[in-house]
Amino acid sequence: MRSLWDSFKIYIMLNWTPVLFAGDKREDKFMEDAIRKILREIGEDPDREGLKNTPLRVKLSMEYLTQGYKEDPGKILKKAIFHEHCDHMIIVRDIELYSLCEHHMLPFFGKCHIGYISKDKVYGVSKLARLVDCFARRLQVQERLTQQIASCLMKPIKAEGVGVVIEAQHLCMMMRGVTKQNSKMITSAMLGSFRSEHATRDEFLNLIGMARS
Ligand SMILES: [Zn+2]
Repeated sequence: MRSLWDSFKIYIMLNWTPVLFAGDKREDKFMEDAIRKILREIGEDPDREGLKNTPLRVKLSMEYLTQGYKEDPGKILKKAIFHEHCDHMIIVRDIELYSLCEHHMLPFFGKCHIGYISKDKVYGVSKLARLVDCFARRLQVQERLTQQIASCLMKPIKAEGVGVVIEAQHLCMMMRGVTKQNSKMITSAMLGSFRSEHATRDEFLNLIGMARS
């Protein structure tokens, strides 16, 4: 004889499992369906062989390119702080950067340079690169991206100053619109002594190779 509890479990399984899975599937398929619509809208046949798996691929790629929303920049930095007496400037140059512009959802890519001065704490280099990715893997404008990286670096090590410079090329400018292939956008955020002291700012710009001649 089946116990009442067993019958209850079977009842739940039969009645609710399909509902739960259907819910998952609906949510899962939402982006794929939207991409199929876009394909149709541009005059394509989403059912032809080459495009059959494209909606899924686009979905997975979009999730990867925007995974920064799921990451906590504070947590990334927390694990990357080391005690070290050091009161000169530390620079990490040429951190690769790939992001998506929020106006066209097209890539912009380039390099990020970070400099900071702190009395007795330093950041692990690899975590600085992860911080850049955390903010870059979202829909962005380059100005905000630069500012976010800089602001985030000040507090955890009580930095005396932080400087961030990003140089990037935007596909929305290169492939469409004004189609300017060689233009580069440069943005900077200077905080603390990097903002208030010319000598500090100049030293930073010099070391990343961006000083005015
Ligand atoms: Zn754009």
